[in-house]
Amino acid sequence: MYKGYCEITPKTIKRAYNILESCELCPRVCGVNRLNDEKGICGIGSRAIVSSVTPHFGEESVLVGNGGSGTIFFAGCNLGCVFCQNYDIRHLIMPNNIAGSKDIVDFIVNDISENTFINIMDQYRPTFKAHNYPETNRHITHEEFHNVYVYAKKRGLRLSA
Ligand code: SF4
Repeated sequence: MYKGYCEITPKTIKRAYNILESCELCPRVCGVNRLNDEKGICGIGSRAIVSSVTPHFGEESVLVGNGGSGTIFFAGCNLGCVFCQNYDIRHLIMPNNIAGSKDIVDFIVNDISENTFINIMDQYRPTFKAHNYPETNRHITHEEFHNVYVYAKKRGLRLSA
C-alpha cells in the first residue's frame, strides 16, 4: 500500500549521516565532510541553521488561511543565482524592540560576519489579532528604525535598506 509520508527509521538516519560524510545531498556533490563541519557551496556544515520560524502571510490565500502558513526558513543555499532576492539577511523591526534588533545585529556581526548584507525593514503593520497585544499594536516609529539602522552601520554591517 502507498504511504503518503516518509518513514524515518534508524536506518534512514544512518544513511543520511553517511551522505553528509562526503556530501552528495544535492547535485553539487561537493564531497566535503559536513560531519566535521566542512562547508560546501551551500555554506552549511554539520548543523542546519534555522533563520526564522513564523506564521507566514506572503503565500497564496489557501495556504495562509487566517493564521498564516507555518513556515521554517533555513539559512544557506546551493543555487548561487546572480539574481538572488535573498542575498541579504532581512530583519523586520518590531515596535518596542520586541524582535531584539540590536541583539540580532550583534549575532550577525559576531557569529556570521560583519561582511554581511542586511536589509533592515520597517514595514511592520499590526494585523489580525495584534489588537490583543498592545505592545505590537502600532507601526514602528522613525526613531525605532533609525536607532537600529545607525547601530548596524556602526557595527560595520553592509546595509541595503
Ligand atoms: S551544496 Fe551543500 S548539500 Fe549540496 S553537495 Fe554541497 S555541501 Fe552537500
